[in-house]
Amino acid sequence: MDVFVEKEKCTGCQHCKDVCPVAVFEMKGRGTPDNPDSEGANGDTAPADHKWTGKTLPDIVAKWQSVQDGHKHFAKDNDGTSGGLSVATQGSACILCQACLIECEGECIVITDDSSNTYKSIYK
Ligand code: SF4
Ligand code: SF4
Repeated sequence: MDVFVEKEKCTGCQHCKDVCPVAVFEMKGRGTPDNPDSEGANGDTAPADHKWTGKTLPDIVAKWQSVQDGHKHFAKDNDGTSGGLSVATQGSACILCQACLIECEGECIVITDDSSNTYKSIYK
């Protein structure tokens, strides 16, 4: 199993980490403008066009920046409950329970199983 997060869409809500039963996800800081990856934001298998470059897609920011649901959105660092962004550091452990796929605000989780079937998150 392979799991990655499309970093340009991640709000940092931490829902994925909270629901995953096998600890696939870690929350990492968003780094600095000069070095977005300074805290390990690109520590999963996201391809080049989905790596963290320090910029979130404007439509994702517009949708979530004012939402007050107890989760920080787009905060530079994680405070233990939310903030930063998600990195699928243990993707090989995924059991395809699909819990994260319906909880992901940014609709930015991509899972590929061992038969090359791809699953993408859709927020419910
Ligand atoms: S589908 Fe995989 S990554 Fe997502 S919550 Fe389930 S085990 Fe974790
Ligand atoms: S659930 Fe989606 S938007 Fe929220 S932190 Fe995880 S990957 Fe990012």
